[in-house]
Amino acid sequence: MQDTSPSVPDFTQWPSFPFEGDLHVKQLDEPVLVEPPRRGEGNRECTACNAPDEAYIWVGERWRVRAMDRPTGLPMVLILESRSHLDLGDLPNLLAAELGVMTVRLERAIRSLDGVARVHVNRWGDGSAHLHMWFLARPYGRLQLRGTFLSLWDSILPPISEAQWRENLAMVAAWLAEFGGRPLAEPPRIQWQAPSSFNAASTGGATEEPEEEIASVIEAADEIPEAEEAEERATPEQAEHPDRASEPEQVGQRDRAGTPERPEVPQQAAAPEQVEQPQRAETP
Ligand SMILES: [Zn+2]
Repeated sequence: MQDTSPSVPDFTQWPSFPFEGDLHVKQLDEPVLVEPPRRGEGNRECTACNAPDEAYIWVGERWRVRAMDRPTGLPMVLILESRSHLDLGDLPNLLAAELGVMTVRLERAIRSLDGVARVHVNRWGDGSAHLHMWFLARPYGRLQLRGTFLSLWDSILPPISEAQWRENLAMVAAWLAEFGGRPLAEPPRIQWQAPSSFNAASTGGATEEPEEEIASVIEAADEIPEAEEAEERATPEQAEHPDRASEPEQVGQRDRAGTPERPEVPQQAAAPEQVEQPQRAETP
């Protein structure tokens, strides 16, 4: 029907593929010999380590959950982060086991929201060295959003209402807090108002707001502008925040300073049932 070049793969014909028309496969760049450092690697600042608890919707001793800075097209988009500056493959057994527990818990919390059919869990990690897992909710009934293009659709769908968004965030935060930690239902920073100024056509890039670290669900979008990003990081907007002064335990915050990891923290402080698994996990 459409005379796309023969090299365009079949998935461009799938109902879930968000685009139509005449498509061409991009020319691939030559591979680089040495990849540039991600955020939180080499001499690059770590956004996660620098972010105060107030930027999150829920915080625990070893994990934090954050939302985007404004309503998303999908009914819920959240990021689970370890406090410690570690990447997925570097998690010690305790944290690895807890990651499983937190993943299940968060999935269930998001799936319990009205209008959510499924929760996709993703980890890319190409932009930041600090472990962060994405949780993307697929709206119920939207069969066309099934599968791997869900993250693209988030930028295409009109954002949900701010009221709904905040309510959803508060519900998830409260759900997590049942197991410990602190709900900070108020989402990150800046009061985002006038959601009506968004329209269906807004594609991530259409945001007139000052650039925040996470503007889109599409991870590449938060990593590709490598050069600008690096500069922005130099002036972290968290500066105005009254910095977790009241928090006795900012375990992760200073990790990146030098000490590679310190997953010691009192074990059963946050969620008692998380503590069993590690033993079993490490078969001698
Ligand atoms: Zn970090």
